[in-house]
Amino acid sequence: MTKNDHPMKDGLETGCLNGECVQIPDGRELYLYGPWSGSPSWPHLTEPKQKNTAHSRWHPLRQEWVTYAAARQNRTYKPPANSCPLCPHAPGGELPLDAFTIAVFENRFPSFQIQNEFAPDLSSHDLQTKPAKGRCEVVVYCSAHEGNLSSIPQENRELLLKVWGARRQALLTHDEISFVMPFENRGEDAGVTLHHPHGQIYSFEELPPIPARMADSFAKGYSLHNQISKCPEQTVIDTPTASAFVPPFARFPYECWLLPKAFHPAPDHMSEQEIGDMALLLQRMVKLYDTFFKRTCPYVMIVYMAPKGMEDVFPFHIQFYPFLRSTDRLKYLAGCEQGAGSFLVDVLPENAASDLRNAGESLS
Ligand SMILES: [Zn+2]
Repeated sequence: MTKNDHPMKDGLETGCLNGECVQIPDGRELYLYGPWSGSPSWPHLTEPKQKNTAHSRWHPLRQEWVTYAAARQNRTYKPPANSCPLCPHAPGGELPLDAFTIAVFENRFPSFQIQNEFAPDLSSHDLQTKPAKGRCEVVVYCSAHEGNLSSIPQENRELLLKVWGARRQALLTHDEISFVMPFENRGEDAGVTLHHPHGQIYSFEELPPIPARMADSFAKGYSLHNQISKCPEQTVIDTPTASAFVPPFARFPYECWLLPKAFHPAPDHMSEQEIGDMALLLQRMVKLYDTFFKRTCPYVMIVYMAPKGMEDVFPFHIQFYPFLRSTDRLKYLAGCEQGAGSFLVDVLPENAASDLRNAGESLS
């Protein structure tokens, strides 16, 4: 199969939610969004993917599911740049293409799978188990090995927002999936094992504990938009249709959230201008963190979109948790956070907002 300058309208814009789908011989699917070229073949991936033995066990004290995916221990760990599995044409890699814009594929070492009936019977141990149903996908932001959300082209960031929305819509058609959560871990301090610019999309059968609590608040009438309109001093970066702000109840010292000014359950409901402004915020937020901390800022970025059936109340927004308190001090989750679930923060959110705003002025 060879494609050159494949027009994007054949993917997202004609309603083909999966982008252009290419079958990997091991049974997984590769979705290509935006122009791409090459004749993909995977001679090293002809074996059907291994049967999943991932499963979940109920933690009776925390009252939440814990998922065990032993196969993940053998996944690729910090490969050198010349054998990065996300680079086009890398030997033994995932993406044997000449070039691509954005690529999405199912993780070779998934924690969750849609077709997964494996659940060991541990009733004699008084343990409740269930199959780890869901899906784990990798989203590669660009062909180039070097870069980050701030340095990739604006058109890739805009497309990435559309891909998140399109994957949510496609994945929610499965009965086994009720919640789709893209995220990015950045930096070795945040546990990153591959440096090629990429993120992930995890899909869950049931709402996990944190989104479930969020959904409960939104269902009871809490409005993030109302909250932010009452705290204008928290704004860090403003655009005509979206803004970045430090939530006045931030749990991390320089935590920031990005929110479209109009309510949308997911990016596929947004206009081109709104997509453009959110993409710009992503670029400026990451650059601002690196400028402010004078180093590559490790962070976790979570993309929250409405769970299935909550499209009227749960707003699409993005949360950044930077893992730094200052240039040379990492923010750890320590005893109080881990043991009590109670966060201690040594920077007031209003001071964090003004610090970040001041640092941002030097950028513009
Ligand atoms: Zn790479």
